[in-house]
Amino acid sequence: MPELALYGGAPYRARPFPQRTPFTEEAVALAVEAIRSQNLFGPSGRFVPMLEREFAALYGAQHAVACSSGTAAIHIALGTVNPNPGDEVITTPITDAGGILPILFQNCVPVFADVDTTLNLDPQDVERQITPRTTAIIATHLAGNACQIEALAEIARRHGIALIEDCSQAHVTRYHERYLGTYGDIAAFSLQQSKHMTAGDGGVVITNRADWAERMRLFGDKGWLRGPRGGRRSYAVLGLNYRMTELQAAVALPQIGTVRAAVERRMELGAHLASRIRDLPGLQPPPVTEGSEHSCWMVPLHVERWTAARFAEALTAEGVPAGAGYIGEPIYLCMEALAGRRTFGVSAHPLDGCHGGRPIEYAPGLCPRAEEALRHLVTLNIHEHYTREDIEDIAGAIRKVATHLPPDL
Ligand SMILES: *Cc1c(COP(=O)(O)O)cnc(C)c1O
Repeated sequence: MPELALYGGAPYRARPFPQRTPFTEEAVALAVEAIRSQNLFGPSGRFVPMLEREFAALYGAQHAVACSSGTAAIHIALGTVNPNPGDEVITTPITDAGGILPILFQNCVPVFADVDTTLNLDPQDVERQITPRTTAIIATHLAGNACQIEALAEIARRHGIALIEDCSQAHVTRYHERYLGTYGDIAAFSLQQSKHMTAGDGGVVITNRADWAERMRLFGDKGWLRGPRGGRRSYAVLGLNYRMTELQAAVALPQIGTVRAAVERRMELGAHLASRIRDLPGLQPPPVTEGSEHSCWMVPLHVERWTAARFAEALTAEGVPAGAGYIGEPIYLCMEALAGRRTFGVSAHPLDGCHGGRPIEYAPGLCPRAEEALRHLVTLNIHEHYTREDIEDIAGAIRKVATHLPPDL
């Protein structure tokens, strides 16, 4: 019997996995070109407007605005919806802090709906959470797997509330015939280093709504109606400086042409991995949403017999880095701003019932299915430069751990 590396045996995989190399020589050349132009400021540059045009074209969207991060993109999206202070925004408990911070900074109240077995928002629970103060839903396509976005769009339409898609983990990923990000009113993307398309940090927002296009641009540019130089300035909306620089746009630009191939490669590798571990007792990948591709921003595994932390530790010891629980606990327990109501000064604003809103507290038990799912969630990372042999090694290491690690549940 092979001994687990956790107990001193030889690791299943001794070699490191390949490094991801999203920045090609073309990106280097464009970055150099940007620097040589002596202008790195987006609004007067070449590369930021080009990235916006090409990103919009990739999605068949009418309007795209590039910005400094995924968090900024979500903030621009919500600022464009323009809720009243004290309004409620329904979202998922399994997301990045970047999906929550913009809600708080717009003086709104995050309301959490529970997830289904795919770890994405359960539309029925979303509908149950709607109140007269609900202004928007932020739907995250977790790990590269779609939410039931058509059901959510129907609910949003019926209640007259906005639907924001957070596509930070699901660039160029299809649900039925269309890319995720084209189902809601407005969609936000992160271009952070780990994302399918990256500028190190960066973000993009897209919409087809002509009435929102201008506000979307102004919100990330201090609200500034840029007119002729000099004279009295006009700041038309309350916004922030979330501008993308020319350097970020230059290195992101070549990926417009390659991101779909990268995502397809991840899908192929992810499907291969799933097929190699299908028969193992005690673990399985969570179901993929009916009609969705899974672009494998991360590869989730649901383990039953072991605590996620223990399984991840054993797998990591075998040379296959693994994490437990993605963010560990639902975001309302991870963020002191929510769990501890530590927001602005000594206030609990905007969770304190401001502007006739509903005071709210976040505690364990709020979304029981999400809490339970994260306790059983092990996450792996693959990327487009992995080979079939790398996937075979990951599958072999999972098999070894699943076969030999004593259950602790
Ligand atoms: C990465 C991520 C964000 C935040 O993006 P940043 O670029 O890090 O600000 C928001 N939501 C989700 C789902 C993400 O994965």
